[in-house]
Amino acid sequence: MAEKNEIILSGIRPTGRLHYGNYFGAIQHFLKLQEEGYRCYYFIADYHALTTIVERVDFYQQTIDMLRTYVACGLDPDRSIIYRQSDLPCTAELTLLLGMVTNIGHLERGTTYKDKLSKLPERRDGTEGNPLSYGLLGYPVLMAADILIVKADIVPVGDDQRQHVEMAMDIAQKFNARFGETLKVPAPVARNALRLPGLDGSEKMGKSENNTLDLLDDPKTVLKKLKGVQTSTDPLPLESESTDPDVVIPQMPASVGALYRILHLLAPEEVYLDFVGKYRRGEKFYGTLKTTLAEYVSAFNAPIIERFHAPDNTEEYVKEFLRENAIKVTPVALDTVEACRKAMGIGHSLYRA
Ligand code: ATP
Ligand code: MG
Repeated sequence: MAEKNEIILSGIRPTGRLHYGNYFGAIQHFLKLQEEGYRCYYFIADYHALTTIVERVDFYQQTIDMLRTYVACGLDPDRSIIYRQSDLPCTAELTLLLGMVTNIGHLERGTTYKDKLSKLPERRDGTEGNPLSYGLLGYPVLMAADILIVKADIVPVGDDQRQHVEMAMDIAQKFNARFGETLKVPAPVARNALRLPGLDGSEKMGKSENNTLDLLDDPKTVLKKLKGVQTSTDPLPLESESTDPDVVIPQMPASVGALYRILHLLAPEEVYLDFVGKYRRGEKFYGTLKTTLAEYVSAFNAPIIERFHAPDNTEEYVKEFLRENAIKVTPVALDTVEACRKAMGIGHSLYRA
């Protein structure tokens, strides 16, 4: 059980609109930890967003919109320290220092990197080499810096980020072993962390994947997206009597499983169980499942959409709290960077002293 004085850190890339995976994998935990009175650092990972760009994107505007959605979900910049990663540029300095204890082979085995590498189009023009960037390969080092710089104990993220947190733990341990106890090693990601599948049945809903159900989707969009989910494949038989979603859902066709997963997150248990029964009996029910689910989703989204558009939830408001919170997080972060500089032997920064 976590102590109230433990430090929480988590971030989201400003690469699109917040979706149900982001909410149930991350934001709902942010809210709970904020309510429980922990010291919470929640940031928008705009440096991280740069690791996958090929042309200019207006990340500033996307950051503002994402923060307005944070506020609409209930995150409170007076209680949690909500900041923009690039407003803490000493994160980049810590990334450089941590890079000195990071093994290249370890980074090349990173799942995000390997996945991007495997999706590269085959080179037919005879050119050789890997067109992926140093920045993408180094993503886990930047993420380690985000975590270690605020001395985080707990990193509430979805299951897709499990390996990256393990890399951060590893980097901190290596640093400490080589240069003396300097960095706090965070705890691993919770065993029950969620990985919500995409509406297209792929294993992860993702902002950059065009397979999301979004918190700001209006009822018409919700219905359209859910109706478009592929349900024409024959139901696969359920092998056990269990109703546990972790047992039942993997036995369904993937896109149907995505619908059941969201139903289980939003609807009362008896509604979920009723639909599991229908599935088991092989009834024709996909139309009703989609319209029922659309109602739950739209009811969930309605207050978030309303608060997103609230007259005081403006760009000016967001800019003001970003500035205040950057001022709050900076001394904590500089303390870590200075400790690492000293531990490695280059000594304190003379201009900051
Ligand atoms: P991108 O496709 O640009 O990487 P994303 O949807 O993966 O976007 P991130 O900004 O990478 O979102 O991740 C933000 C947080 O949301 C992380 O804690 C991540 O683990 C969580 N998250 C993202 N997708 C899912 C998902 N499908 N299920 C559970 N958690 C998720
Ligand atoms: Mg991601």
